[in-house]
Amino acid sequence: MITIALSKGRIFEETTPLLAAAGITPAEDPDSSRKLIIGTNREDVRLLIVRATDVPTYVQNGGADMGIAGKDVLVEHGGEGLYQPLDLNIAKCKMMVAVRDDFDYTGAARRGARLKVATKYVKIAREHFAEKGMHVDLIKLYGSMELAPLVGLADAIVDLVSTGGTLRANHLVAVEEIMPISSRLVVNQASLKLKRPQIQPIIDAFAAVVAEGK
Ligand code: ATP
Ligand code: MG
Repeated sequence: MITIALSKGRIFEETTPLLAAAGITPAEDPDSSRKLIIGTNREDVRLLIVRATDVPTYVQNGGADMGIAGKDVLVEHGGEGLYQPLDLNIAKCKMMVAVRDDFDYTGAARRGARLKVATKYVKIAREHFAEKGMHVDLIKLYGSMELAPLVGLADAIVDLVSTGGTLRANHLVAVEEIMPISSRLVVNQASLKLKRPQIQPIIDAFAAVVAEGK
């Protein structure tokens, strides 16, 4: 049995064509089903529906043989013990620093001001500002980071941006790109050794779809 860990929503949607290329069709839509383990047309393949941030943990510990996770999640997790054979080029966006549109970020950085930065991505933010030599106080949030600068909780946020629509709607602007983000395939290293005849064709099928899109 091959178990693939996926998160609902965006990643699941963008993974469907990849799964199809590997001859895998989910038996149910996880967005409407309450099931956490979803069968497929293939008797030897099942899908685990987990929180996006939990994908690396399931795969690392063998709760799943493989999974799909955003680079944001993988960098924040550390990715220890995970084989990452493929950038799938899906769920693309950017990790960015954003501030209120009336906040002078460049000036504050130049003056060496100590900034309060709210984010779900504490590790990425810490490393980014350390590299720039900026002193920051990090505030860990679990969602809706855009709110923090509006109520004075933070001067800046570090968050994912795709169209920028959410930032604009909240009078925020992106001032710095930290890294481009897309989702990657992750594979448990022991699974790869023990189940290579089943896993390698799935990796190859995904790779073929990614190559087509380039
Ligand atoms: P929730 O939003 O329900 O709290 P989540 O943030 O864990 O859950 P998603 O928002 O579905 O889950 O994000 C899952 C992954 O999709 C992220 O880890 C990231 O890699 C990618 N992603 C997030 N936001 C965007 C975006 N705006 N555009 C493209 N990809 C994104
Ligand atoms: Mg989200």
